[in-house]
Amino acid sequence: MDCVFCKIINKEIPAKVVYEDDQVIAFHDANPQAPIHLLIVPKEHIASILDIDEENSEVLKDIFRVAQNIAKENNIDKKGFRLVVNTGEEGGQTVHHLHFHLLGGRFLTWPPG
Ligand code: 5GP
Ligand code: ZN
Repeated sequence: MDCVFCKIINKEIPAKVVYEDDQVIAFHDANPQAPIHLLIVPKEHIASILDIDEENSEVLKDIFRVAQNIAKENNIDKKGFRLVVNTGEEGGQTVHHLHFHLLGGRFLTWPPG
């Protein structure tokens, strides 16, 4: 499948991986928008939030656990951070493999652009 995140998961292209288990991988975003900008990705190819169902939703718990741990490891758990899932064209999704942006290390503005 021609999916950049599947290629990272399959080690066909490199990434700066910070966490990996059987279900989830987390790595640095190639184009960081904050001092800490990591992507937390289910290893199963799920195209977007719209494709989450009873069969594959168990991984969401793992993703939130990984997000919590990564926030603590980067010392942004108490300062604050943002977990973002862009969805669809107007939502700004460019990679069609579900991923959670974990952003932190600076004051994040609201509303987003
Ligand atoms: P989206 O726009 O779909 O929410 O987010 C996709 C993110 O993936 C972007 O922030 C982009 O910088 C990142 N990205 C795209 N291709 C690669 C890649 O090959 N390696 C890494 N580490 N990040 C990528
Ligand atoms: Zn994929």
